[in-house]
Amino acid sequence: MSRKVLVLGEVRDVSLRNVSFEAVAAAATVAEGGEVVGVLVGESVSALGLELVKYGADRVVVVEDAKLAQYTADGYAQALLAVIDQEKPEGIVFGHTALGKDLSPKIAARLSSGLISDATAVEVAGGNVVFTRPIYSGKAFEKKIVTDGFIFATIRPNNIPPLEKDESRSGEVTALSVEIKELRAIIQDVVRKAAEGVDLSEAKVVISGGRGVKSAEGFKPLKELADVLGGAVGASRGACDAEYCDYSLQIGQTGKVVTPDLYIACGISGAIQHLAGMSNSKVIVAINKDPEANIFKVADYGIVGDLFEVVPMLTEEFKKLKVHQ
Ligand SMILES: Cc1cc2nc3c(=O)[nH]c(=O)nc-3n(C[C@H](O)[C@H](O)[C@H](O)COP(=O)(O)OP(=O)(O)OC[C@H]3O[C@@H](n4cnc5c(N)ncnc54)[C@H](O)[C@@H]3O)c2cc1C
Repeated sequence: MSRKVLVLGEVRDVSLRNVSFEAVAAAATVAEGGEVVGVLVGESVSALGLELVKYGADRVVVVEDAKLAQYTADGYAQALLAVIDQEKPEGIVFGHTALGKDLSPKIAARLSSGLISDATAVEVAGGNVVFTRPIYSGKAFEKKIVTDGFIFATIRPNNIPPLEKDESRSGEVTALSVEIKELRAIIQDVVRKAAEGVDLSEAKVVISGGRGVKSAEGFKPLKELADVLGGAVGASRGACDAEYCDYSLQIGQTGKVVTPDLYIACGISGAIQHLAGMSNSKVIVAINKDPEANIFKVADYGIVGDLFEVVPMLTEEFKKLKVHQ
């Protein structure tokens, strides 16, 4: 059954986050040959519409307003509900990001719709749209079969590959004028960390440090390795609690969930709460002095050794490989 599916494009720092293109790919599967309509919400975002089209959206609807310059659930919900009212879609896909997690339940409640959150795969099987999503902190996967009605899902970043970018694709980018009512809360300012580097939740490579890193200074070799591999630095809660790094780096049950191509855990014991945030990474490498550390149970490759010796060696070897490429 073909359907019209809306996809929210997420804008950060005047560009679209990668998860937006992954959401377009998921929406194309859900649409089953129907129409994929991108939605952009913000202050001046229409220039990004064509980018969504190149990644597979058929057309894009843009809602622009000064009140939408910063994300608020209130403002975005007003914009999105107006687009939904105009387009009358049969499905919606968001990224399972901080924004998507905040906004999707609000929209679902307003539409009296169900919500399949944090999907890692979507397919059409036996005539139904089927989502796969992790449960029990990533220890098992469940399949959600949508048998009828409206389909609303959020997708975990880095799991559903985007469609190939096609520079020749064209599609309409149209503005929808929406009167955004006075917002109940206004964001005055967003204060960013000085050097954020690669976005942790979308990074293809994550180098993570635990209490074994021993100090803030101890994160330096990890940062060097991350820079060589074009990755991001993450951390266990142990490292955050010990004030070696900021809580924004925390990975796990009460931190960020990441699924990079490569996750290197340095001086992390592998507590169940940490595994909840990284065990679905494609390749896991663990570096730990203790051969009995739990992290080795989920690792594809384990190095028993001192991270302060192993990590600089890896950095040097990767540097050499890059020179010879
Ligand atoms: C409700 C709740 C929620 C939680 N949420 C999270 C969460 O989201 N994320 C999270 O990470 N934790 C979470 N935790 C905490 C979790 O239980 C662990 O306490 C924490 O993950 C331990 O961090 P760690 O592995 O860095 O430290 P440790 O368990 O102390 O491990 C340090 C490891 O470093 C190794 N090591 C030491 N020196 C070196 C060296 N020089 N070279 C190599 N290896 C070395 C040691 O052998 C050891 O295995 C949560 C706990 C609770 C109760």
